[in-house]
Amino acid sequence: MSGRVVVLTGGVGGAKLVLGLQQLLEPANVTAIVNTGDDFTHLGLHVSPDIDTLLYTLSGKSNAAQGWGREGESWNFLDALRSLGGEDWFMLGDGDLALHVLRSMRLARGESLSAITADFARSWGIAIDVLPMSDQLVATHLDTDEGVLPFQRYFVGRRCQPVVRQVMFEGAAQAKPAPGVCEAILADDTTAILIAPSNPYLSVDPIFAVPGIRDALLAARAPVVAVSPIVGGDAVKGPTAKLMRELGSVVTPQAVAAHYGDVLDGMLVDERDARVNLGIASVHVDTLMTSLDDRVRVAQAALALAAGIR
Ligand code: GDP
Repeated sequence: MSGRVVVLTGGVGGAKLVLGLQQLLEPANVTAIVNTGDDFTHLGLHVSPDIDTLLYTLSGKSNAAQGWGREGESWNFLDALRSLGGEDWFMLGDGDLALHVLRSMRLARGESLSAITADFARSWGIAIDVLPMSDQLVATHLDTDEGVLPFQRYFVGRRCQPVVRQVMFEGAAQAKPAPGVCEAILADDTTAILIAPSNPYLSVDPIFAVPGIRDALLAARAPVVAVSPIVGGDAVKGPTAKLMRELGSVVTPQAVAAHYGDVLDGMLVDERDARVNLGIASVHVDTLMTSLDDRVRVAQAALALAAGIR
């Protein structure tokens, strides 16, 4: 396929699809727009979990077995921190730390998250355009039965156990799309816009919450196609299904499609899920991405669906 492909993505689930696109296409023709609602300041450092997951995945550094962080990581910093009584609920490996230190230093100098991210990607030979959704801070908070929790306190600190009543994106109203985000969505040569199989409420909604991005998706000439994060009526991993239930939804691809609403032109649905009319174009395939071949196959199927709509 010629032209540009834009993909909206969160963490591990989304990075699988982006890796498939990297294998399948000329990487320079792919733009990834990444959720930064999970970003937070820890030990004085700016951590961008979803950006880092994508950078690790695309450069072959991710720890696939663990599902987060780097392969072959060492933990001297965390051990020393712990011995001093420092907070150790959020695991920071030695190699991982390098990104957070450098990013924090450059942000403090007034550089933008998008410029820093582009430099990190270039350093690691990643040709995909990796863009944060915004250069401004947008912080996901969850209103739960234990009170309002910042995202990482809920996700890592409390292992998603609190019951969620509402998800909020602090700062979103004042945020602007990062340079290149709307340009890529609206570009004449963009042939497909994919929504990766990421958590709709915690990874995709923050991107939609940045004023201008949803409007750009609605105005885009290219079709918007989501890969369902629901496989066989459940999430592959993580809190997506639990969260959907707590927010009063059923755990089906239709519910995800309805949640995305009018931005969506098509959905790649897993073959294990019911063949119901979504009111948009849809195709059933095996969407479970275990091997690298699976990632390429699912990316190919999503692009084929987009091409059919176009
Ligand atoms: P994560 O929480 O860091 O993994 O971040 P994401 O928001 O990117 O991904 C979470 C979602 O991806 C969950 O809803 C999973 O069900 C979904 N997911 C993970 N792996 C796969 C896969 O191989 N296929 C499909 N269809 N969905 C997946």
